[in-house]
Amino acid sequence: SNANDNAVILPGATLGVLGGGQLGRMFAHAAQSMGYFTAVLDQDPTSPAGLVSHHHVRTGYEDPQGLTELARLCAAVTTEFENVPAGSLNRLAESLPVSPAGSAVAIAQDRAAEKAHFVKCGVPCAPYAVIATPEQLAAINEALLPGILKTARMGYDGKGQIRVKTRAELVAAWDELKNVACVLEKMLPLAHECSVIVARGRNGDIVNLPVQRNLHRDGILAVTEVYEGNLPATQVEQAIAAAKSVAIGLDYVGVLCVEFFVLENGQLVVNEIAPRPHNSGHYSQNAMDVSQFELQVRCMTNLPLVQPRQHSATVMLNLLGDLWFKDGDQARTPAWDRVLALPGCHLHLYGKVDAKRARKMGHLNITAATPAAVRATALQAAEILG
Ligand code: ADP
Ligand code: MG
Repeated sequence: SNANDNAVILPGATLGVLGGGQLGRMFAHAAQSMGYFTAVLDQDPTSPAGLVSHHHVRTGYEDPQGLTELARLCAAVTTEFENVPAGSLNRLAESLPVSPAGSAVAIAQDRAAEKAHFVKCGVPCAPYAVIATPEQLAAINEALLPGILKTARMGYDGKGQIRVKTRAELVAAWDELKNVACVLEKMLPLAHECSVIVARGRNGDIVNLPVQRNLHRDGILAVTEVYEGNLPATQVEQAIAAAKSVAIGLDYVGVLCVEFFVLENGQLVVNEIAPRPHNSGHYSQNAMDVSQFELQVRCMTNLPLVQPRQHSATVMLNLLGDLWFKDGDQARTPAWDRVLALPGCHLHLYGKVDAKRARKMGHLNITAATPAAVRATALQAAEILG
């Protein structure tokens, strides 16, 4: 990186994002509300972020002309999609500040590299082994079973994972995953899942959002709860410290989400990282004095990072396309008017053209003065949505 990367980029400049999904859309909204112009690179003419951005470069992530056009338009570039080829980020970094760096994104893209990084940082993760060859498969220690076989690359929302109890199941599972590079992780007894979002500037300043408690359904995030007492205090402190060491160890610039398991015996174990804002941080739009998307803007522009403050107890409900099909195969719009009659409900929809089952269509942030009040409203909202 060159010295110019440390200059502050003030509002009025154009900020670019690789990827046009909902995370890019909410990044664009945050940047625009601060007076920046935005540019999105995404092939899809109806991408959620492309629809709300000043500029939309409609090419793939590796298209040389698209990358050149993005670099021409922008003062700095970030990403909302973790599988953007690191080479594209590196190429852009030759002509303008890019955060996070291709090297950090490359580690987050590969479960084996990610786990090696956790070990390097001294942050405990699940016992695991890499399976990329038949020899490595044959050498697997029985102590890792029962376990979960996960493809090293491109997995998300529980995709590319097979649970295995025996060596025979493991062999069959690796075949089913087409013998691509995988990691086998020991199945751990989970009490809770949680995550922490940190934001780190180029000068090394680092701030964090509070620890989020996450509930998944069918491998997809369903609910995030953030309020006093949602997790044991010792795990909260450990999770924040661990998330910061993971970010510092990567010399990370930008917003990073670190996901953890809390085991039944209380032990905290790191699961995986996402080099971008994360679904579990969406509550920050309405319950914090600064959102994860504004933090992303501040990181990439070298604006100051100030420790975020939570002003409301909060629950986030993910709104999947399934809600559109509660009455059958004919899509119908959920009863937003009834949900919005409840106190402290903030509706965020991503402008996706078609509702599909398991597709993330939006989220509902619920805020209240107390944990009891926010839980009560969340139950009512969930009941209305059916
Ligand atoms: P993804 O990239 O799809 O989010 P994860 O590695 O986070 O994949 O796994 C998805 C979910 O599967 C986790 O949120 C957790 O509920 C469960 N899971 C993953 N690994 C383990 C494990 N080692 N032990 C127990 N449960 C696990
Ligand atoms: Mg996960």
